[in-house]
Amino acid sequence: MADVIIGVDIGGTSVVAAVVAAADGRVLSRDTMPTEAQRGPEDGMRRIGDLIARVAAQAGLPVDHALGIGIGCTGPIDSVRGRIQNPYTLPTWDDMPVVDALVERFGRPALLLHDCAVAALGEQWVGAGQGARHLLYITVGTGIGGGIIVGGRLYRGVGLLAGEVGHQVIDLNGPACYCGARGCWEMLAAAPALSKLAAGRAEPDGLMLRLAGGDREKITPRIVSEAAAQGDAVAKALWEQEARYLGIGVANLMNVLAPEVVVMGGGIMQGWESLAPVFLETIRARGAMVPFDQIRVVPAGLGLNAGVIGAARGLAAHLRGEL
Ligand SMILES: [Zn+2]
Repeated sequence: MADVIIGVDIGGTSVVAAVVAAADGRVLSRDTMPTEAQRGPEDGMRRIGDLIARVAAQAGLPVDHALGIGIGCTGPIDSVRGRIQNPYTLPTWDDMPVVDALVERFGRPALLLHDCAVAALGEQWVGAGQGARHLLYITVGTGIGGGIIVGGRLYRGVGLLAGEVGHQVIDLNGPACYCGARGCWEMLAAAPALSKLAAGRAEPDGLMLRLAGGDREKITPRIVSEAAAQGDAVAKALWEQEARYLGIGVANLMNVLAPEVVVMGGGIMQGWESLAPVFLETIRARGAMVPFDQIRVVPAGLGLNAGVIGAARGLAAHLRGEL
């Protein structure tokens, strides 16, 4: 039987596990469960283990046949110690020793990575950036996160903490960020920032408010995008500003890293079609030091399987001594 790796993707809402072919990233079996972190860390680690056992059984092999277990998790995490450290979206799972628990239960090597690092690895392996040696992955959703691949390897930095692209400062006088700075990219262009701006600016008789059922707090980026597409002037201005903010942040990173490919993922990027003109033009205009025509900027390609595929890829790299 061909080599397989178990990939696990832990998010605030659900956990996905899959058996992934080590040769080509094919997903051989896949299952999911609600995260329900509030049930406690012991319960969580047991259920993650049960989920892994279940996908292995679905693929018709025991877990100890797998080369190992790769885990991607919404941050913060401690990749050095293999611990989840996220009391924000995974309540009670602070300092949860997920790697130790799985190694003990299954006797296979395991590795914990940030979900953005994992997505970068997956997209570079078999996704939108397939084969690129220098790749930047950026996700724009509840926050803005990144994964950096340099020379075919994940760039990790001191403490394995590299990739916090969302905290580059775009506006010195911008809104305060939880990291302590002001005007971070994330505070200007992540989904909550756009929703908040839209809530403040939506006109009483405008389309955005109508689409949100009259409740300003319910205006989502999707509603802004929808209203913009239908010609609402306020929504259009907000959506264009979103594209411009995204372009400025990407151009900054592009000038530093000169990647071959920039892969854009996350909920906001589902609006790729309508963001792309202003987004790409902003990058082109600001990429003076690094020629834009040598860099591909593309939407992510792996969708909901990016996490499990990338986690498997990370474990493979770990076994080769590269991570
Ligand atoms: Zn910040």
